[in-house]
Amino acid sequence: MQKLIVGNLKMNMENLSQRDTYGKDFLEEFKQMKTKNHVAVCPPMIYLEYFYKLLNKTGVSIGAQDCFWELYGSYTGNTSPKTIKSIGAQFVIVGHSERRQYNHETDEDVARKVLMALRVELMPIVCVGYNSGGEEIDNVKEQVEFIVKNFSQDEIENIIFAYEPVWAIGSGKTPTTDDVHTMIMYIRSIIAATHGKECAEGVGILYGGSVVAENVTDLCTKTYADGVLVGGASLSPRKFAQIVRMLN
Ligand code: PEP
Repeated sequence: MQKLIVGNLKMNMENLSQRDTYGKDFLEEFKQMKTKNHVAVCPPMIYLEYFYKLLNKTGVSIGAQDCFWELYGSYTGNTSPKTIKSIGAQFVIVGHSERRQYNHETDEDVARKVLMALRVELMPIVCVGYNSGGEEIDNVKEQVEFIVKNFSQDEIENIIFAYEPVWAIGSGKTPTTDDVHTMIMYIRSIIAATHGKECAEGVGILYGGSVVAENVTDLCTKTYADGVLVGGASLSPRKFAQIVRMLN
């Protein structure tokens, strides 16, 4: 089955010259890349169009790192999912732990964003795992259940989940493959409880947190994840390409 490998470039490339250098190196790595998997990159919002045009012919998809929960109106500074879609993006990351932490996003905010993303046929990648103090497993349960209970089976099938233990993000530490596998199965069981086993088995669940070329095969294949969400390592096009190659 095809894996989804998503690079989250976060708030990096802080000027046009850095963006151009990254873009040039990325294109160099990916223009001849043959992969059976699906690769996507999520640049800062302001560079979405640049990356879409740059990578249009490479087969690499574009995603946004966030969106707003309305499609238009007086919401200064926010970006409509409709605008993101119109630029050519296919994915939008929603509920990343950094947004839950620094922007105080709640499960309700996340669900509203998912709703609008789905409405314009953007595929939301819903990050779960943020530990706001309690046990991680309870956080994951609450976050997944909130989505599962607010969306129909048809909608759930168009949502991707990304399990990201917050302590693994950017730390160089990763859970064991058994632990990731257990959590992926747990997320599927929560989906199955409301929407049935068949639906749960069709939902994409990624793993994210300190993925690099050296650990991606184990973290993705031994865990039965449907792909990976990559932060730090995607800031180097060469390292990101190595991750993609490892899963070929
Ligand atoms: C992330 O922030 O989504 C992430 C996975 O980061 P990193 O790969 O740097 O741990």
